[in-house]
Amino acid sequence: LPDRLKGNDKSVWVEYIQLALKYKPLNLGQGHPDFYAPENVTKALVDAATSDNPLLNQYTRGFGHPRLVNVIAKLYSKLLDRTLDPNNEVIVTCGAYEALYDVLQGHTNPGDEWIIIEPFFDCYVPMIRTAGGIPRYIALKPKRTNELLSSADWIFDKQELESLFNEKTKGIIINTPHNPIGKVFTLNELEFIANLAKKWNTLVVSDEVYEWLVYEPYKHIRIATLPGMYERTITIGSAGKTFSVTGWKIGWAYGPANLLYNLQVVHQNCTYTCNTPIQEAIAVGFEQELERFGQPDCYFVSLAKELQPKRDYMAKFLSDIGMIPTIPEGGYFMIATWTALKDKVRLEEETDENKDYRFTKWMTKNVGIQGIPPSAFYVSEHKHLAEDYVRYCFIKKDENLKKAADILMKWK
Ligand code: PMP
Ligand code: GLN
Repeated sequence: LPDRLKGNDKSVWVEYIQLALKYKPLNLGQGHPDFYAPENVTKALVDAATSDNPLLNQYTRGFGHPRLVNVIAKLYSKLLDRTLDPNNEVIVTCGAYEALYDVLQGHTNPGDEWIIIEPFFDCYVPMIRTAGGIPRYIALKPKRTNELLSSADWIFDKQELESLFNEKTKGIIINTPHNPIGKVFTLNELEFIANLAKKWNTLVVSDEVYEWLVYEPYKHIRIATLPGMYERTITIGSAGKTFSVTGWKIGWAYGPANLLYNLQVVHQNCTYTCNTPIQEAIAVGFEQELERFGQPDCYFVSLAKELQPKRDYMAKFLSDIGMIPTIPEGGYFMIATWTALKDKVRLEEETDENKDYRFTKWMTKNVGIQGIPPSAFYVSEHKHLAEDYVRYCFIKKDENLKKAADILMKWK
């Protein structure tokens, strides 16, 4: 491996998807629905691919299919209460992953520091390092332990965050709703971050791929809407999460034209353009949701409504077997401590350094339930903070959540 890629070899996704293929557990690991995507969107894809317009199966505009960037600009113009220019303030990418990559490649000089909040979506660190940057960490920590928690109980120390900002800080990456905790950042927290970003003249990258998955009574706040913040914020979204089509791998970033320019430079020499029929289908999906925006059948709100009882069901069956879950305010993951069950698990049969890896692997092989080890979302020095936890995904059919509950009850 070239030097700049050293240390990036390990990926929890590569390892755990392989494990799932081999042992065929009930898979509550990698985050994706196990049910059909909304029919209007899948039908729009069929229509696009079989359209009498032959160009819908050919290359489209590099920075985003016109119909898609137009509707994305329209949606966020409404949500941000400012007019976004579809051609210069929106870019379509191959999943939110590529948007993150374009931001970090496009805005990092050697030695630039990026502040990231632990636990963090794991790709942030290799992307920062590959771009020549230096990650700096601030942890979310639970206010209490040994009792049922809400994701709101996971907080960062404000003084500690403040002390990380310095002349080398290029920006901070936030993720709300948060993977894997489910935290929905409060106005007070976002204002604190925004004020530091303004004070030190840094960027804010806001990973909002779960923006529509927020449970009552919580509200998603876009940091780009705070005073003086649009100018310095790049916000990232994902069609995979928005329309339950994670396999379609279309994402986007929006923000001021001068900041998005750098992303365009990376994108045009990397993927250049994303696939046309899927962009067309997502555009149709957005147009239809905009028509029913604010109504209960709008997918932006109906999906969260559908997920809330699944979340509560999972919290109950995990508690019933002695785990202590953190109830997420948003997203589709739940973390829980598994230490009450440690006598039932033969951790010594696994060789990984971190106990959560050993727990999740042992469970996959011996009990038939797969979760993700949350220490994958921490830097080496801090992995011990996550060893007592496991992450499960609850965007699954009720029958599969029931199966998971039955398997765990029987095992316990
Ligand atoms: N950010 C977060 C927080 C995620 O959980 C994911 C997972 N998919 C991504 C980014 C990447 O999204 P995509 O699948 O659209 O590339
Ligand atoms: N974002 C999803 C998760 O956290 C999937 C990540 C991936 O497949 N790399 O589970």
